Amino acid sequence: MRAAKQLKQLKLDVTPQEAPVDKFLTASGTFTDGDLRLNQRGLRLISEESQTSQDNVQPPDAEDVEFSREDLETIKVIGKGSGGIVQLVRHKWLGTFYALKGIQMCIQETVRKQIVQELKINKASQCPHIVVCYHSFYHNGVISLVLEYMDRGSLADVIKQVKTILEPYLAVVCKQVLKGLVYLHHERHVIHRDIKPSNLLVNHKGEVKITDFGVSAVLANSMGQRDTFVGTYNYMAPERISGTSYDYKSDIWSLGLVILESAIGHFPYTSTEPEGYLSFYELLEAIVDQPPPSAPSDQFSPEFCSFISACIQKDPKQRLSSLELLSHPFIKKFEDEDIDLAILVGSLDPPVNLAE
Ligand code: ATP
Ligand code: MG
Repeated sequence: MRAAKQLKQLKLDVTPQEAPVDKFLTASGTFTDGDLRLNQRGLRLISEESQTSQDNVQPPDAEDVEFSREDLETIKVIGKGSGGIVQLVRHKWLGTFYALKGIQMCIQETVRKQIVQELKINKASQCPHIVVCYHSFYHNGVISLVLEYMDRGSLADVIKQVKTILEPYLAVVCKQVLKGLVYLHHERHVIHRDIKPSNLLVNHKGEVKITDFGVSAVLANSMGQRDTFVGTYNYMAPERISGTSYDYKSDIWSLGLVILESAIGHFPYTSTEPEGYLSFYELLEAIVDQPPPSAPSDQFSPEFCSFISACIQKDPKQRLSSLELLSHPFIKKFEDEDIDLAILVGSLDPPVNLAE
């Protein structure tokens, strides 16, 4: 409790007559004077190093300093991706939980400033179906993102436990993801590029949100290799694999595969061999050269089969847009039934048990 000790030693010397208050007000409405910060969340001291650190690429605004690494205590590692680890952290002052995602990168300062700048866009997200990125900082070759914590993990975690998700719940998941995609595609004019089960996160309220938006694109752009891709090719649309131009519709292909996988309980491209897995090249070949997978009509409703077919079309022009899919009969079918995804996720073991 370093900060608490410092607070005890603190002597307040406020002389308002001599100093106009607005001189010390930041844009966020925080009163600052040297190491002292006072805003609606309370009074606090900022350590010398967090203000002057060469590695803190953020402007010295009080809102930003509140998210310095020293303010976040690690509770547990909650995930591991190709770029680094994700930790559950707690803000020492606010008591709130966040997911801290570290992305390892060895790059020049100018490039990393650009990355942080671009990642800041996420902060301004106006969509309840996109995971908020509250802050980002750079230290020792690692870009850390302070993300909204989604306490029920990803759709990949959910599928692992339930094996298959029934159509009414899938419609609710899908509607939320589509709302996130409508926001990205139609309002922000960006392609996500990495829609897959581990990038669709769920919380106890039954909310589904898209994460890792822009991260792969930003990293690829910053390396000067637009189409460098780190991660899985499983959900990548055929036009991307074959290297032709692609657009928003490539996200729709990925969404279709994710939803179909959640319904049938396994990745839709399988081998006829006993293990059922395709090698890397067999998979790419199947996606580009074989007819696309579809939902078996004897097991699923006509609306579901039609929805999957509207997403998984090899010709991107044949796929519906996110906006069109939002009013598809499969999404509309369960709208009046008041399906609560919180009940489904509530019945599962959470990825992190805070009571332990
Ligand atoms: P890849 O790096 O190949 O894209 P990935 O998406 O699984 O794979 P990460 O994005 O690093 O890798 O995430 C790792 C795991 O951490 C996720 O699968 C998810 O379970 C968990 N996770 C990520 N972000 C959050 C978050 N904001 N809240 C809760 N859990 C998260
Ligand atoms: Mg991810």
